[in-house]
Amino acid sequence: MEKGKVLVTGAAGYIGTHTAVKLINAGFGVVVVDNLSNSELSAIEGVREITGREIPFVQADCNDRAALEEVFRAHEFCGVIHFAASKAVGESVEQPLLYYGNNLGSFVTVLELMKEYGVPNIVFSSSATVYGQPDVLPATETTPRKPATSPYGNTKQICEDILRDSVAAYEGLNGIALRYFNPIGAHPSALIGELPKGVPNNLVPFITQTAAGVRECLSIFGDDYNTGDGTALRDYIDVVDLAKAHVVAVERMVGGDMKEQYEIFNIGTGRPVSVLELVRTFEKVNGVAVPYKIVGRRAGDVEAVWADTTLANTELGWKAERSLDETLRSAWKWEKHLRGL
Ligand code: NAD
Ligand code: UDP
Repeated sequence: MEKGKVLVTGAAGYIGTHTAVKLINAGFGVVVVDNLSNSELSAIEGVREITGREIPFVQADCNDRAALEEVFRAHEFCGVIHFAASKAVGESVEQPLLYYGNNLGSFVTVLELMKEYGVPNIVFSSSATVYGQPDVLPATETTPRKPATSPYGNTKQICEDILRDSVAAYEGLNGIALRYFNPIGAHPSALIGELPKGVPNNLVPFITQTAAGVRECLSIFGDDYNTGDGTALRDYIDVVDLAKAHVVAVERMVGGDMKEQYEIFNIGTGRPVSVLELVRTFEKVNGVAVPYKIVGRRAGDVEAVWADTTLANTELGWKAERSLDETLRSAWKWEKHLRGL
């Protein structure tokens, strides 16, 4: 028997596809809404292939209230996972209105419809970016947020606040914000993974494209940080582990296990990894070379951030499981699949 139906917005995207697979495997029904602004229909095909299930897909913009309302009218949802958002930090500096309009607008529209149709539970995709450079590491959920350094980061802070205030105001609404650290890797089947458009901004897609010969050389942004090898530290979380965290969050809400009606969880490994360590591990486990050069620091980058995952481990009962080796192998397998290598 199906556990309940979950509306997944932005589910044709990187994290959404992996989460859809995990939800289906856990026994949930899934309805997907995506405007395909940063994804392709083939991603949904990948989910169908892995799960062997048809997935209702509606191509719609979450800012299009009428189109989204049809979806709420047609299905009875036990919850929503809201991935739909624009996510390129640099682009958000150039086009802030696009980011505020899309990220805030779509979230408000989804919440309004949930209220109207009595859908009680929502998981929101937040980010470690809300911590900026924390004064104390690792970051816990009570570590103070720092003023955002980009419109994108600001949308994550504002959406967290919108969720907190909505949960406080509207009887029966529960919210969980998951603060993702750095999602990387791909499904072990290599049927789904990250599909960056143009030149990747993120480290791992740049590494895999360099290893594949699509890019000549990786630029490492700064080796003069106050860290062991001088390169910046991050907490790289496997996307399959991250997907599982969403299933656990939905189960917690549906099962009535929440301690508060609005909860926040860090989703990371708790282990800081430097840029150089990541590059070298990638080379070692995949037996490929990644030419790199050290260049200046990237504007807006923090030196080090990683998660205290105690709350997710104890309260959610979730823990990152895949090793960095395994994750970096999956990233390379996906790149080879994309390039037909
Ligand atoms: P992604 O771009 O691969 O997926 C987002 C999906 O949302 C895309 O398929 C896009 O087409 C869709 N979309 C965007 N705006 C929409 C709209 N108005 N209506 C309908 N669909 C829309 O990104 P991702 O990496 O899978 O990220 C998912 C969520 O997680 C985002 O909210 C992102 O900000 C957040 N997040 C991502 C990371 C990361 O490093 N990938 C880190 C922290 C938080
Ligand atoms: N990075 C890098 N070269 C790249 C992309 C990223 O050296 O081409 C570094 C970046 O400076 C940061 C880390 O890799 O220290 C992770 O960057 P990413 O953009 O993947 O995630 P962020 O932590 O910025 O969200």
